[in-house]
Amino acid sequence: MLYEISEKAIQLENEGKKIIKFNLGDPDQPTPHEIIEAAFEAMKQGKTKYSSSAGERKLREELASIYNVSADNVVITAGSKWAIFSIMFLFLKKGGNVVIPTPHWTSYELTAKSLGAEIRFLKTDIDSNWKIDVEKLGDLMDQKTRLVIFNNPNNPTSKVVNEKVFEEIVQTANNKGATILSDEVYSDISFVKTKSILDFDGDHILVKSFSKTFAMTGWRIGYVIVKQELAEKMMKLNQITLTNVPVFVQQAALKALELRQEIADKIREDYRRRADLACNILSKTKMKFSRPDAPFYVFPKYDNLDSESFALNLLDSGVAIAPGTAFGDYREYFRIALTVPEEEIELGLKKICEALQ
Ligand code: PMP
Repeated sequence: MLYEISEKAIQLENEGKKIIKFNLGDPDQPTPHEIIEAAFEAMKQGKTKYSSSAGERKLREELASIYNVSADNVVITAGSKWAIFSIMFLFLKKGGNVVIPTPHWTSYELTAKSLGAEIRFLKTDIDSNWKIDVEKLGDLMDQKTRLVIFNNPNNPTSKVVNEKVFEEIVQTANNKGATILSDEVYSDISFVKTKSILDFDGDHILVKSFSKTFAMTGWRIGYVIVKQELAEKMMKLNQITLTNVPVFVQQAALKALELRQEIADKIREDYRRRADLACNILSKTKMKFSRPDAPFYVFPKYDNLDSESFALNLLDSGVAIAPGTAFGDYREYFRIALTVPEEEIELGLKKICEALQ
């Protein structure tokens, strides 16, 4: 349904209609020009050839120094989406199950399904402020659990897990011998401080991206921090599939890291303002919602709503949203991505409120 809405929104735009696109986590801000120039410079220097499937040594070393690991623990991937697919492929291709707390980013479920893996969902909801019940999480894990997917900050709720719960999740996975894939693509622009999986003991996986922190969604570059044995397997999978992320993109990513503090600070502040604005408007309605701890999303609930038909009908009013069912069993919810300017947030929310009446 998420992808159907997206296609329909594009079709309407092609017909000349104005659509406020709350449906995708694709920032409206341009990629900072220094990053674009670094890519261009690299292209002019001839960095337009095949290269290492693990990623450029310089970029891996820079990331290794940020995370205090060795460059052998870093693999550069075509967006974090490819990292997530690769890891799920490597862990689940011979069977087993994957545990996914919900609401969850759509791709985890679709990827697990495409691999024929058994999926075990753990539902959380707004009434408990999206808290993960660690005991229930443990009960879902058994000897065949290959992965637990943990997304912090979460898409679609934008909530950050509390430190103690994070620690308990890691301990539970360690006790059960399960590996956590920790998707932390929003962590560098989070409004509140959050721990990383690397802060805890255990043999787990960190997935990160340049997409959100640097407004680089279309460049397709992300990375993982993993143990060396897994890094080698991921590198081999890259060898037989994408070969390498373009070297000029990796060169641009190096520039992004150099400027990371100022770029991330600016992006974070933009989204903080947008989140405040959206929360202000939503607090005057009958919708239930939790205040985002991070960009980009708000995930309100409206009692008895069928968000799928609501989302489809709303397109006629010129607003695209993602129905809650794209993130699990959340028919009464919908996700708004604050990836549009403030005036569009105001207008779009006004149209949503009118349509709900
Ligand atoms: N993880 C999460 C939680 C996401 O929301 C997204 C994109 N919406 C991704 C991973 C993938 O991002 P990318 O492939 O651009 O790095």
